[in-house]
Amino acid sequence: MASAIQSTIHELSQMARKAKVFASMPWIEGLTPVMMGDAERTTTYATDEIVERREGIFNLDEIGLSPLDHGGLYGDGCFEGILIAHGRVWLFKEHLERWYRSAEMTHIDFPYAIEDIAWRTLETIRRVGIADDEQGYLRPVLTRGLGNLGINPGKCIAPTIYVVASTIALYPPEKYETGIELSVARQTRRPDPEFVDPNIKSLNYLNNIFSLIETRDAGRLETLMLTHKGYVAEASADNIFTIYRKEGWENDPSKVEIRTPLGDYCLRGITRNTIIDLAKAEGYDVREDAHLIPLDFTGPEKECFMTGTGAGLMPVTAVECNQVGDGRPGPVTKNLLEKLRANQRSTESGLPVNATFEEVKRYLGK
Ligand code: PMP
Repeated sequence: MASAIQSTIHELSQMARKAKVFASMPWIEGLTPVMMGDAERTTTYATDEIVERREGIFNLDEIGLSPLDHGGLYGDGCFEGILIAHGRVWLFKEHLERWYRSAEMTHIDFPYAIEDIAWRTLETIRRVGIADDEQGYLRPVLTRGLGNLGINPGKCIAPTIYVVASTIALYPPEKYETGIELSVARQTRRPDPEFVDPNIKSLNYLNNIFSLIETRDAGRLETLMLTHKGYVAEASADNIFTIYRKEGWENDPSKVEIRTPLGDYCLRGITRNTIIDLAKAEGYDVREDAHLIPLDFTGPEKECFMTGTGAGLMPVTAVECNQVGDGRPGPVTKNLLEKLRANQRSTESGLPVNATFEEVKRYLGK
């Protein structure tokens, strides 16, 4: 245990050395973290908010959330996770738009024009200095901001924004060759849209975390979460796909049946959407299905994989004790992994980190 913590500390220290955070908060003396009042490190961002908004780029140990911030107190906010690869921010527009949509569904007024927050994000990445052959990761967060100690959103002054630019390595590279095994969470369910809509990428991940804690003893890295009716929704931080290769599939791609849970019951992942498009372009029969059960993901002629921005496309070789196909990543999965990697390399699918402000605006259609 002690050595696991030591190695996590080492990993985080390495990460912190190559990370910056853009922070933006209303400036109220005695309430906002003092760093935000430092005129040499911060500037004012003009908004129609009642209080002055200050912003700056910091090292990770220079700035923190106010103890009164409702993001920390109540998980009251929303976030994104974005990949930087090949010198570009992959599908930046799609992620920014989802962040704004989550903000709207959370009833938080986003204080920045989309091109302004995009520009500041690029500036932050440039300060980190991620080489073209390195992968980076962005964690943009919006909270309802600092308020009193009660939950009343009406007592919050103005939103807090921060964007961490750093690196992430969710899975060791060899796992993309061998695949991983999944558990199934039994106690914890993915809430239906009537609770917190899974399409709000909210700061409240307690349920997802519980699903991992529940299955931790099995030593597996990810777990399937079910809807309250028992159908498969998604993994704790990734979407899930099952493949069934029907007879004759080698010569006829329409005989490759690909199914993923209905988007109402999971986060409509941006990697998920990309994979759906790439799989359709291959001629595979791709559909959403609201009634998938864990056993649909295993057995002969089956393949299975997860998708997510941090994970990319991760092959799955077993669900609990049931093997998927022959227990190794299958040919359709490998083909889609290759197609996804090609998409990430393509200059069409993102914004260069060194784009000018004019290019940012054009890219976002502003
Ligand atoms: N589901 C959940 C619950 C997630 O948190 C994520 C993001 N890690 C995903 C699915 C995958 O979404 P995306 O492809 O947009 O990263």
